[in-house]
Amino acid sequence: MTDTIPFSQEISNLLHASEGEPLKNCIQCGTCSGTCPVAGYMDNSPRQIIALINLGKKDQVLESNTFWYCASCYHCSVRCPQEIDITELMYALKRYSIWKNRYQEGLIGPTFSEAFVKMIIRGGRSFEPILATSYIFSFNTREFLQEIQGATELLLKGRLPILPARIKRLENFRRMIGRIIPMGGLE
Ligand code: SF4
Ligand code: SF4
Repeated sequence: MTDTIPFSQEISNLLHASEGEPLKNCIQCGTCSGTCPVAGYMDNSPRQIIALINLGKKDQVLESNTFWYCASCYHCSVRCPQEIDITELMYALKRYSIWKNRYQEGLIGPTFSEAFVKMIIRGGRSFEPILATSYIFSFNTREFLQEIQGATELLLKGRLPILPARIKRLENFRRMIGRIIPMGGLE
């Protein structure tokens, strides 16, 4: 089945704080890529991702690690001469990628994000010991032991909870979240 609306329009519809199709205003100046601290680790720079979206290259965009490597530092957004909120675009691409269940294999980001959202929906709070299981086993032995050592030190200092906590009036919170994101499959 062919898509009913262009990919660039689909993505623009997810940029809730922007109007119209802001990505079409990109002049490909490269300021965002030049200012991005993690561009060197990305398959496609922020500038390239925007070009690919505007060209309708959906497969290439979803196969890219770009938005999963974004550190949400907002450098690109504040420096873009066209006032494009590139950070928001990176969040939108993460949401779209999880929604469509299409992302590069081996990335920690999608598993981590899904685990985090489910945890927040269930209890209203993050609980690091459970969250850590979504990425800690992807580390090598040395990194794994470093993480365990760090967690033990935090635990001994009382900075890591032993049991998960729940917020008060959780049902109200869940109703509010349900108005923002589709809850199906996340509860
Ligand atoms: S800084 Fe803005 S206009 Fe320049 S390439 Fe990036 S998104 Fe496009
Ligand atoms: S918000 Fe993301 S894409 Fe933009 S400069 Fe920071 S890390 Fe790079």
